[in-house]
Amino acid sequence: MHDFWKVGEDAAHSRLAAWEADVDGYDDKRNLPSVDKVSRLSPHLHFGEISPIQIWHRFKDKRSKGWETYEGELIWRDYSQNAILQFPKYATQNYREDFDRFPWRDPATDEAAARDLNAWQQGRTGYPIVDAGMRQLWQTGWMHNRVRMITASFLIKHLLIDWREGEKWFWDTLCDADYASNATNWQWTAGTGVDSNMFSRIMAPLSQSEKFDAARYIRTYVPELAKLDEPYIHDPEEFGRRPAGYPRKIVPHREARERALAALKAMKDS
Ligand SMILES: Cc1cc2nc3c(=O)[nH]c(=O)nc-3n(C[C@H](O)[C@H](O)[C@H](O)COP(=O)(O)OP(=O)(O)OC[C@H]3O[C@@H](n4cnc5c(N)ncnc54)[C@H](O)[C@@H]3O)c2cc1C
Repeated sequence: MHDFWKVGEDAAHSRLAAWEADVDGYDDKRNLPSVDKVSRLSPHLHFGEISPIQIWHRFKDKRSKGWETYEGELIWRDYSQNAILQFPKYATQNYREDFDRFPWRDPATDEAAARDLNAWQQGRTGYPIVDAGMRQLWQTGWMHNRVRMITASFLIKHLLIDWREGEKWFWDTLCDADYASNATNWQWTAGTGVDSNMFSRIMAPLSQSEKFDAARYIRTYVPELAKLDEPYIHDPEEFGRRPAGYPRKIVPHREARERALAALKAMKDS
C-alpha cells in the first residue's frame, strides 16, 4: 500500500490540515492526474476516521471556487449513501431495467471477453491512460477520480463488459472501496443508474489523456513508455512509437465506439 494513506484518526486530521493549503485550487487542478492536488481523504472518510461535517466546519468560511467545488464532491458522497438507502441492491442490479437486456460480452462464456477483462485488470490494454490507472490501482490501492471515470468507461463501452465486473474489481482493490460510492459511480458511468450519464456518451481515452495532461502520470505507472515525449506517449501505436513489450490496442477506438452504439441499438430494438 502506498504511504499516502496512514491509518487512523490522527493521520486523517494531519491530511486535512495539509489539504488546507490546496483546497482553493481544487477547481482548476482536480482533473489533472499528473498533479497531486486532490485531498486523498477518501479512505479516511470511508473508515470513519474523519467525517464530512468536520471537513465542512474547517473550510466553511472560505469563499473560493475551489472550496465550493470540493464541497459539492462531499455532497456527492452523501448523495451516494442516500441512493443506497433507497436502493440497497444498487451494486448488483441495473436501476434502469432496459439494461437487463443489454448484450454484454460475458467473460464467463466468451474467451475473448475473459482475455480483455484480464488485460484491463492488469493494465495491458494498449491505451496508456487506462493502463496507468489500472496499474496505479494495483500498486497503491487508489486511483485518481478522472482516471476512474476513463477506465470504467473503457471497460463498459470499449470492451462491452458489464459494469458489475468493474464494480467487483474496484471493490476488491481500492483502499477506499465503498459500497455506495462505488456502485453509484459505476452505474453513473454505465448509464444504467438514477440520474446517470447517457450510455451513448463514450469517452475517448486518448483525447482525455491529452486534454488532462496525463504524460507524467503515464510515465510513473507505465515504465515501458517513460522515454516517450508528447504527443507520442498518449498514443504510441498511432505514431509508430510503440516500444517492444508494450501491447497493441486490444480494440481500436472507432471500432469499439461503433460496436457499443450497435449494442445499445440492439437493446432498444429488442
Ligand atoms: C468508477 C468509479 C468508482 C468509484 N469508487 C469509489 C469508491 O469505492 N469509494 C470512494 O470513496 N469513491 C469512489 N469513487 C469516487 C471518487 O473517485 C473518489 O471518491 C475520489 O477519487 C477519492 O479521492 P479524493 O479523496 O482525493 O477525492 P477528492 O477529489 O479530494 O474529493 C473529496 C471527497 O469527496 C468524495 N467524492 C469525490 N468524488 C466523488 C464521487 N464521484 N462520488 C462520491 N463521492 C465523491 C469522496 O469522499 C472524496 O474523498 C469512484 C469513482 C468512479 C468514477
